[in-house]
Amino acid sequence: MPPTVGVVAIQGDFSKHVEAIRSCSPDTKLFEIRTPEDLDQVTHLIIPGGESTTVGLLMQRYGLGEAIIKRVQQRSLAVWGTCMGMILLAKSVENHDQYRLGLLDITVRRNAFGTQVHSFEDETDIDGLDSPVMGVYIRAPIVTEWGPMVKILGKYQGQVVAARQENVLGTSFHPELTDDTRMHLWFLSFPVPES
Ligand code: GLN
Repeated sequence: MPPTVGVVAIQGDFSKHVEAIRSCSPDTKLFEIRTPEDLDQVTHLIIPGGESTTVGLLMQRYGLGEAIIKRVQQRSLAVWGTCMGMILLAKSVENHDQYRLGLLDITVRRNAFGTQVHSFEDETDIDGLDSPVMGVYIRAPIVTEWGPMVKILGKYQGQVVAARQENVLGTSFHPELTDDTRMHLWFLSFPVPES
């Protein structure tokens, strides 16, 4: 079955992910996701960059967080979080007790490279891609700890910036802000056996 893709559209740069999927896979069905009912339509979900405390609270309030957790546990949903999305997927967040999904067995440190003025881009090697991606880091988190089920896929200056646990992927940077859609295409190829 071809993937159907959803992008969590509560706050943040979700429209950039929508554009990226439209450009690399124009025939893919694509939905903006805000409620548990919206989620029923998709096999692949992207959680964009944004403000993790705000979006976490709203995900909790709309019941969307619970629905995502259930679908991943049922193995019927692949999820990719970029920046804020990776924070929301993490099991723990250093020094914050904010709402999160806990689907990726990692600890993240928010704003690990500094504040907004310290945003930058640089080439980042990702396992499985034959050449580096241009990593766009905007108040980006890093992964500081991870469990045995987690595969580390990329490091930047020795810091972990990409990690995967089965069908759950987190990246510190924003591929949706570049013209390089290799990561989007790769995510669409994640198998979702129970869908
Ligand atoms: N620092 C932000 C947070 O903690 C994430 C920034 C981003 O998504 N670009 O929510």
